[in-house]
Amino acid sequence: MNRIRLLPDHVANQIAAGEVVERPASVVKELVENSLDAQATRITVEIQAGGRSLIRVTDDGVGMSRDDALLCLERHATSKIQRAEDLAAIATMGFRGEALPSIASVSRFTLTTRERDTDSPEGTQIIISGGKIHEVKSAGSAPGTIIEVRQLFFNLPARRKFLRTEETEAAHIQHYLTLAALAHPNVGMAFHKDGRQVWQLASVKSGNDIAARLTALRERLRTLYGDEQKLLAVDSSTEISSRDETDAEYSPAVRLWGFMGAPGMSRATREDQHLFINRRPVENRGLNFALLEGYHTALMKGRYPVCCLFLEIDPAAVDVNIHPAKREVKFHREAEVRRFVAQAVRQTLLSFHSEPAKERVVSITPVRDRQQQESETTSVQQESQTEQVALPHFPPALRPAPEPTKPTIHQPALRMGFGLNQKTNPAAPLPAAESHSTSPIVPLAPRPSPLAAPSGPVPLLNVPLRLVGVIGKLYVILESDRGLVLLDQHAAHERILFEQMLNRLEQNGQTASQRLLLPATVELSPRDANFIREQLPALTRLGVGLSEFGESTFLLDALPPFVKASDPRRFVLELVDELKAAGQEVNSLRLGEHTVAKTVCRHAVKANDPLAGRELENLVEELRYCAMPYTCPHGRPTIIEMNFRELEKKFGRTQ
Ligand code: ADP
Ligand code: MG
Repeated sequence: MNRIRLLPDHVANQIAAGEVVERPASVVKELVENSLDAQATRITVEIQAGGRSLIRVTDDGVGMSRDDALLCLERHATSKIQRAEDLAAIATMGFRGEALPSIASVSRFTLTTRERDTDSPEGTQIIISGGKIHEVKSAGSAPGTIIEVRQLFFNLPARRKFLRTEETEAAHIQHYLTLAALAHPNVGMAFHKDGRQVWQLASVKSGNDIAARLTALRERLRTLYGDEQKLLAVDSSTEISSRDETDAEYSPAVRLWGFMGAPGMSRATREDQHLFINRRPVENRGLNFALLEGYHTALMKGRYPVCCLFLEIDPAAVDVNIHPAKREVKFHREAEVRRFVAQAVRQTLLSFHSEPAKERVVSITPVRDRQQQESETTSVQQESQTEQVALPHFPPALRPAPEPTKPTIHQPALRMGFGLNQKTNPAAPLPAAESHSTSPIVPLAPRPSPLAAPSGPVPLLNVPLRLVGVIGKLYVILESDRGLVLLDQHAAHERILFEQMLNRLEQNGQTASQRLLLPATVELSPRDANFIREQLPALTRLGVGLSEFGESTFLLDALPPFVKASDPRRFVLELVDELKAAGQEVNSLRLGEHTVAKTVCRHAVKANDPLAGRELENLVEELRYCAMPYTCPHGRPTIIEMNFRELEKKFGRTQ
């Protein structure tokens, strides 16, 4: 008996819908992506009851002819690819030709469309219920497409039951729309929820060059998130060269651009971490990891960066056809892409502190650009004005920045200046991902970063600071012309020691070490002894002269000069405990120099006396010379600011 038969179309569609249409937000995603692919300049999304009772997406895109409108509801009907080879380089959001038939099979669906570029005023309307066409008729409508999805999953009660509350579903929809809005500032977007307007985002005109795109993105970010965020502009590109002989000539260009949080800015979840690959919002573990790696000591454990970053890469170098909803992608050169992203992030963090002083100064501003400046944020202008009131009476020890700074730092016109199409030298090999463990601090080849200028914050350590006092033997109070500044002495000291240590290590393969007058022996438990034995080489390189002196006894005969050696034995015992704790974090037998250095510094700082007067001034000065001064090696902030605006808010002087 033959038992196999072909499934009817509407069943096949429902099965496909199981993968593509998980919840109302997936419908919104598919429909909005279709509108974007149809070159819409305005998209309106309306939902009711979290998208359960209604989702309506209206666009002014190219629209469809009657034939196309009928065809688009067939499975595997698409205008976006033609041949299997096209799959290798997809430039549109869609390509599977599955979304519309899937959605139409699990809802009451109405498609109304009219071609944009024909003279005929006639449009087409198709009404479908649960995948069955009820009516096809002419309809008068504006050019573009309206798709209405009512009663999602009405014919699949089991699926309907799995939907969450209206608020949750609406939040998912809004989250997707936020991503789409960030990726397409040039498209005007409106969002209505239960008859109420949530957004009305005007289209932001933007050219093709990166400066204009950054400005447009900044504008969108501001509309969606408000003005408070301290974001750094990112722009970095390179060519990924292959180690693989077979396609040696093929080296796709990649670029990472967008905005990311200044050092010390983070969230407890990935919620504000937006990553796009060729404008597609994606989840990619490799990239997540690269971000964390790039932030490195600028991020606390368990915290996530805030960013909106776009990776642009030759579509042929990435496979988007690995997930039915296209949420995940796969790179052909995963490791290289990761390394590039980590490096770009790191570079941005480093240049935040080190570059502005040299790079931002510009004396001539073309008139054309000046007009553009008018549209810059007022906060930027305020900053540049206050910048000019450099206070002459500050003690010389607390003068701003390692390089002398001109007060005109923040001329936004600089954006037009130089290096816009700058690439990081493609000839220079990408540093290995692991290289962080050996040369974390030395800045990479200097790269002009004019883009940090347009709306980036002026780094706190680039403005003059005046010492006010110390509270709790720990917090140093300083004053700047922007407001109140607080410095955590220990955190700052840790950062300074950490960088000094690693710089020395980098230069001499060994950090400074001081022989003890009286070497001490330390007895450890067998387990601790085993553990510390693994760490001896790193400890020695970092100036802690510890050697085996019997079964589980160790001899300590040298320490880094900054460690007070009043009780060397205790120092070792505590260091062992801290290293063990650090070891649990990194989960490896032998800790890297980084981890050991971090721990030694933390310990040294803890054991030190509080600083006073001149020493504090030196501390601030030395912090200024650090490559990553804003966080301690564990990612906690070293210095924070409460500007006058925030103070006024707290004291109820403003709203
Ligand atoms: P895909 O997007 O993968 O091609 P869909 O099922 O989402 O598959 O859409 C099928 C086809 O319908 C698209 O290829 C496109 O030609 C057409 N289409 C869908 N939505 C729109 C729209 N909003 N405007 C114009 N054409 C559209
Ligand atoms: Mg589609």
